[in-house]
Amino acid sequence: MARKPAKKILNRTKARRAQAASRPSHKKAKSPHKYIFVIGGVMSGVGKGVATASLGTLLSAKGFKVNLVKVDPYLNVDAGTMNPTEHGEVFVLDSGLETDQDMGNYERFLGRDLTADDYLTSGMVYKSVIDRERALGYGGKCVEAIPQIRDEIVGRYERAAKINGSDISIIEVGGTIGDYQNIMFIEAARVLKIRHPHDVVFMVVSYLPTPGTLGEMKTRPTQNAINQLSSYGVTTDIVIARAATPLDQRRKEKIATACNILPKRVISAPDIESIYDVPVNFDKDKLADIVLEALDCPEPPHQPQLDMNEWRKMARGIKDHAEHEVHIGVVGKYFNTGDFILSDAYISVLEAIKFSAYANKVKAVIHTVNARDFEIAANGEGFAALDKLDGIIVPGGFGSSGIEGKLAVIKYAREKKIPYLGLCYGMQLMTIEYARDVLKLDNAHTTEIDPKTPHPIIDIMPDQREKMARGDYGGTMRLGLYPAKLSKDTIAQEAYSYFNGKKLPKATTSIKERHRHRYEVNPKYIERLEKAGLVFSGRSPDGRLMEIAELPRDKHPFFLGTQFHPEFLARPLMPHPLFTEFVKAAKERKGRISN
Ligand code: GLN
Repeated sequence: MARKPAKKILNRTKARRAQAASRPSHKKAKSPHKYIFVIGGVMSGVGKGVATASLGTLLSAKGFKVNLVKVDPYLNVDAGTMNPTEHGEVFVLDSGLETDQDMGNYERFLGRDLTADDYLTSGMVYKSVIDRERALGYGGKCVEAIPQIRDEIVGRYERAAKINGSDISIIEVGGTIGDYQNIMFIEAARVLKIRHPHDVVFMVVSYLPTPGTLGEMKTRPTQNAINQLSSYGVTTDIVIARAATPLDQRRKEKIATACNILPKRVISAPDIESIYDVPVNFDKDKLADIVLEALDCPEPPHQPQLDMNEWRKMARGIKDHAEHEVHIGVVGKYFNTGDFILSDAYISVLEAIKFSAYANKVKAVIHTVNARDFEIAANGEGFAALDKLDGIIVPGGFGSSGIEGKLAVIKYAREKKIPYLGLCYGMQLMTIEYARDVLKLDNAHTTEIDPKTPHPIIDIMPDQREKMARGDYGGTMRLGLYPAKLSKDTIAQEAYSYFNGKKLPKATTSIKERHRHRYEVNPKYIERLEKAGLVFSGRSPDGRLMEIAELPRDKHPFFLGTQFHPEFLARPLMPHPLFTEFVKAAKERKGRISN
């Protein structure tokens, strides 16, 4: 058969395409991507992150794919180099990016993993603009904050949306209206709205104080904040009114009138017992509908991404088991800031305990145990307080302070058979304690603390040694998601084979967990440690790196440590199996003690 001339085929294709275009399409056109900016008014620390995350929960439950973005205006490129007492927990993503603790809340409230593009700092933005300038990327132009820095931010807002393939981005701008540091991020949001006039809304989470001397809730600071935001060219669409008590109708209308906002778009958000109630309360106030209406958003394009009934059950359950308590000690050193005790540095650990307590139908009462208190108590004094605990956790950490105290607590937990969970540093220290006490290796240590120890049980990983020698500290640890293999018939493998008390159809031997460390169990000591009874039940797939250490059940009810951080993957509707197993052991101990 003779072939048709190529040109004719081309014309036919064109004609077919034109025909198709003129036919009414039955396929729904994808609606444009929507952006919600969340900005704080009056003061920080009023729950802007939780409000952002909660809106994410509600929109996901409606059937929208949501990505949550955190903007941190500081000049650090990421959160990895900051002291936890200064900044709270460093939360690690799958990608290995070290971020703000708000990202942890976002993942927990969305029930999904976020990407490195969902986190922005001024340092990150400036660094990429400056690096590009050094590489002649601006074609000889004068590079300035406006437009180059601003446009870099706009591009990142758009990129996060694209990479996630989401329908809606909720972007929380850190700091408060009036800060110098976050102005460029608000300016970029304003410009994004010019580009997408119908697809961007601004939500202000503001604080309404009730001065003790007056006993009356004041709206003025919130009005001032919103007016200041409008002086940047940004119009507020929705206000979340955070206060100790609910906002009354009169004040609602006052804010609405003064700030040009529809009264129904001023939402009351009084203090509540648990952050997991926030989406439930916002749901009662129909926040998602109000936001969707402001965004002119059509029907949800997907099935619900999250089950709101499950969420409600969990939010209730977390508070409800008060009569069955387990007491968990978290041994740390980042608790004290000035005269205050802060648990911010360990927030993912504390939340992970809560979820697993709920899975075990108990309520966890957390006790902060200051490691330094046990350094001088080597004579046995003070340890009696530990007997009241049903479980002990030594979480991640760095450096020398509190170390001997932590080792003393671990020894006590091992000998007294108190369930123990060691997280990263907590696993390294339990290995050192075992080497010192069971293998009788005097002065065994980690080279992080004692570079000259005769027994470097924990040693720096070879590639890390070079980085340290170069002084290359930022974002260079072994970070993010790595696979591990579990040994059969171990506590770890058994734990991972269950989910919420139900046995999974297939026994798990491969896991992936998030990491953040420079040191590891020294391969030279593994054989001796194992001979002495410590079981390494999880290893990197090449078998080189020890990921989980444990004592068998006949020696201890639960004595297990992980080189990784399971807390970063614990979610309210998906508690982490190792935490669940640990809380189960704590519950059993409690049962034994009280019988
Ligand atoms: N300091 C230890 C290390 O770098 C433990 C780190 C941690 O607990 N995240 O390996």
